[in-house]
Amino acid sequence: MSDTLVVRGARLYDGRGLDAIDEAVLVAQDGRVMYAGPAGGARGFDALPDAVDAAGRTLIPGLIDAHVHLCSNGSPDFAADAQSLSAQQARDRCAEAALRALEAGITTVRDLGGVGSATVEAARAQASGALKGARILTSVQVLTVPGGHAHFIGREIASVGEMVKAIQSLHEAGATVIKLVATGGVLTPGIGAQQSSFPPEQLHAAVEEAHRLGLRAAAHAIGAEGIAAAVDAGVDSIEHGCFLSDPVIGEMIGNPTWLVATLSAPERIASGGNEAPQYAVDKSLEVMTAQRGSFRRALDLGTRIASGTDAGTPYNLHGGLSHELKLMHESGMGLERILMSATRDAAQLLGLGDIGSLEAGKIADFVLLDGDPLTDVGAYARVALVVQNGRIVIDRR
Ligand SMILES: [Zn+2]
Repeated sequence: MSDTLVVRGARLYDGRGLDAIDEAVLVAQDGRVMYAGPAGGARGFDALPDAVDAAGRTLIPGLIDAHVHLCSNGSPDFAADAQSLSAQQARDRCAEAALRALEAGITTVRDLGGVGSATVEAARAQASGALKGARILTSVQVLTVPGGHAHFIGREIASVGEMVKAIQSLHEAGATVIKLVATGGVLTPGIGAQQSSFPPEQLHAAVEEAHRLGLRAAAHAIGAEGIAAAVDAGVDSIEHGCFLSDPVIGEMIGNPTWLVATLSAPERIASGGNEAPQYAVDKSLEVMTAQRGSFRRALDLGTRIASGTDAGTPYNLHGGLSHELKLMHESGMGLERILMSATRDAAQLLGLGDIGSLEAGKIADFVLLDGDPLTDVGAYARVALVVQNGRIVIDRR
């Protein structure tokens, strides 16, 4: 019985899009949810010890940030910082970032571009219990064209053959997702944010090889042409998606292709402080307004949207998902959908069927919030308790 945790009295949103259950009971045993629902249904568990009194708080599934960079810490100059890191520093950064995320109620993150093998080492350390932090899925490194965006931390690919080989090698290294840099980016000097990169045949080969190996394919894509090429190639998600057109959104809905907008990224660079390089500030201002418009349009037309922050980029600190959710709300997303995008829907994008909702048999990752996130988006920033794998890992009650 020592690995049993009972939480009583909270308002429960179990992540399945159903109505709230007041004065709910959740029983977790050996890391899994045994029961989550009305108190009346939990009679068999009455004798269990160690009940957490959660009255007045809201219980939701553990949050998921589908786009982070654990090796980066929000330094103003992303490129210079990443290039200066030793392997040990990169590992230390990952550990610190994963803990920051956990403290914010984020029990799972997906890293889309690290330095060397630091992120996959952190993922293994977390899984073994040696590292206290969010569960980590990772692309290990990014794939980019020679001299392309993020080349300073990525593998540079110039042919279909190189693409296939690189994906096989990342798979062997422990990647669960492949990150394709399909356009230029804000944080690399000398490259337009909107310019396209990989030719269609390389994108198609990449997606085919990734899927053959059971990996997801995520495309960093800002400009319209690069987005269209990536969607056409069948990637699982468009990251950033600043310049979306209606025909491309239609294709995304049909495929389906997810959108992970990371509204925080350009907003933080443009407003976070005055030490970010001028090229990054200029390019952020160039894409920001279009990105908000694209997000709103994608939302209105019914695109699948998962939450992600791009944490680690300038002034965009780990654990900042609550800010992203606020920006998504300001851009038109309803509060019920926001909860889904940060829990069940993000889990679906990540291919993790046993997290994202609180149902019997699923992994017991959950958060107690002060306040109700379905009436106040600010509640995500008020984390009282975090439980991961059925164990209390953060307690601020
Ligand atoms: Zn990113």
